[in-house]
Amino acid sequence: MGSVRVTPRHDWCFSQTSCDRRGLVVFDEAAGLVRAHIERKFPKACGMCARVFLDLPDYIRNTRHVGQPVSYDAALGDWKPKEPVGTFAIALCRCGSSVAIDSSGMPLLTLWRLMRFARSETRRRGVTVSEFLVDIRAEVERQALAVRGDAGERAPAGEVVRVTICPR
Ligand SMILES: [Zn+2]
Repeated sequence: MGSVRVTPRHDWCFSQTSCDRRGLVVFDEAAGLVRAHIERKFPKACGMCARVFLDLPDYIRNTRHVGQPVSYDAALGDWKPKEPVGTFAIALCRCGSSVAIDSSGMPLLTLWRLMRFARSETRRRGVTVSEFLVDIRAEVERQALAVRGDAGERAPAGEVVRVTICPR
């Protein structure tokens, strides 16, 4: 799979603060929720050249990341937004035009769960929200390509290395 996991207790446990799973999400689950949301946005067309991205793997292969994803709600300090501004990940189509994936259409309860997780994880890891979202994006892409069994398209071995620390 290209990933190495050291798992003393639970093979799904990534967070030191959510190891009991009670209402909280763990990293892979969070990425899975994001991936499920993003997959509903396809097929999706480039607004400039009208190229259609059939699905998420097609989009991953035929666009390039531009910068880090941004959560405008987190930037505004609103971790439970009733009217979310949104979270955006910008990419470049092969035509050079930018295309975006965003959080619009995500159920509020799901968004709030993810934002609560992002808030606790960024504090625990000492990273910015955008740095955390880069990790989520990498995991979403790994999952999307793995689901299709596209072994040749996966991230190089060693790129996703995770050591699980379970507090109990
Ligand atoms: Zn295009």
